[in-house]
Amino acid sequence: MAKGLIRMKETTKAIRIQTERTQHKEHATPLFLTSSFTFEDAAEGQALFNNEIPGNIYSRYSNPSVQEFIDKVCMMEELEVGFATSSGMAAVFAGFAAHLQSGDHLVASQALFGSAHQIITQILPKWGISYTYLDSDCSEEEWNAAIQENTKMIYLETPSNPGLALVDLEMIGKVAKKHNLIYYVDNCFATPVIQKPARFGTDLIVHSATKFMDGQGRVLGGIICGTQETMEPVIFFCRHTGPAMSPFNAWILSKSLETLHLRMERHCENAQKFAEALQGTEGVKQVNYPFLDSHPQNELAKKQMTNGGALVTFDLEGGFERIVRFTKLLTIPSKTSNLGDSRTTITNPNTTTHSKVAQDIKDKLGITEGLMRVSIGLEDIDDLIADFKQAIDGSK
Ligand SMILES: *Cc1c(COP(=O)(O)O)cnc(C)c1O
Repeated sequence: MAKGLIRMKETTKAIRIQTERTQHKEHATPLFLTSSFTFEDAAEGQALFNNEIPGNIYSRYSNPSVQEFIDKVCMMEELEVGFATSSGMAAVFAGFAAHLQSGDHLVASQALFGSAHQIITQILPKWGISYTYLDSDCSEEEWNAAIQENTKMIYLETPSNPGLALVDLEMIGKVAKKHNLIYYVDNCFATPVIQKPARFGTDLIVHSATKFMDGQGRVLGGIICGTQETMEPVIFFCRHTGPAMSPFNAWILSKSLETLHLRMERHCENAQKFAEALQGTEGVKQVNYPFLDSHPQNELAKKQMTNGGALVTFDLEGGFERIVRFTKLLTIPSKTSNLGDSRTTITNPNTTTHSKVAQDIKDKLGITEGLMRVSIGLEDIDDLIADFKQAIDGSK
């Protein structure tokens, strides 16, 4: 980081952290679309490979465009070291694979992204790694009681997808510390702009950069950040198994981080107004948003998040046929399973993202037939509210 930047604010750093300017004096950050880097001579090659001097060797290991993206996210997450991956799931998996081994046990909150659930229940058990799931709102005693002799890690997501359930980050920090466990958090829904898990003692934080970090639905990407110590095995794992992020995607994502704070502010302001406007609408059973007074964990949300986020869910009465009529009538939102876009998106999790989840788990996670998940975008909020109201009325 440039010397003068160190004492500046996070928003300034997110805009001004940049790869060192080349001899061409370009203004926009350069894109290093190259698979490898050259050595002056054999001696320099040897020194680079022996870690005697810093420098780039090969883009599976490191790349300046990718490093710029990593530097910005580590700065925002208040963590030391990161590794950027081709997708969010590659980063989630790297955290598990680098730290868990046969015979280890993992404790996780049950309200997780679908593919994280598949890794924990289908892939890790093949290598002799067992797990215990807990509900997001379990007490400190219940979390403590789930820890076994061979427990190595706690993994959670808050707020969760799609139920927007929260886990108390401070409380889990105490549990992890008490039992000397690796504390691993998926901070994708909140983004580092509205939630900083490292302040509660997390060892590893993971993101799907595909969502709000890109913010415009263009590229896939992921990142895992941690302390020097917790990231060392993760970097070793990633360098040799090859989930590296493309420099092109890193260049897009790093540019996007310049506007992340501004975008999140508007996403949250719009989502709050949307949630308030939908409450009490005929045909809408329940509106779920962390910063609504009616959210069962509203107090916790206000403690660990500075804003409510962009995701709002609500329960539409009238069964699947009404949902079909309702989504046909909506004119603004895109009907797609992605989220975190400047354009509002909407899905029915029961029949799409979570259709393969067992019924008893759906019940626990609040995934009802009528649940609609909305990722509120940056459109004019009055236009959005009016569009939803006409579609709700018209689909009766
Ligand atoms: C989308 C998502 C992921 C997976 O990220 P990809 O980039 O799609 O691999 C992980 N966690 C959460 C909370 C997500 O929303």
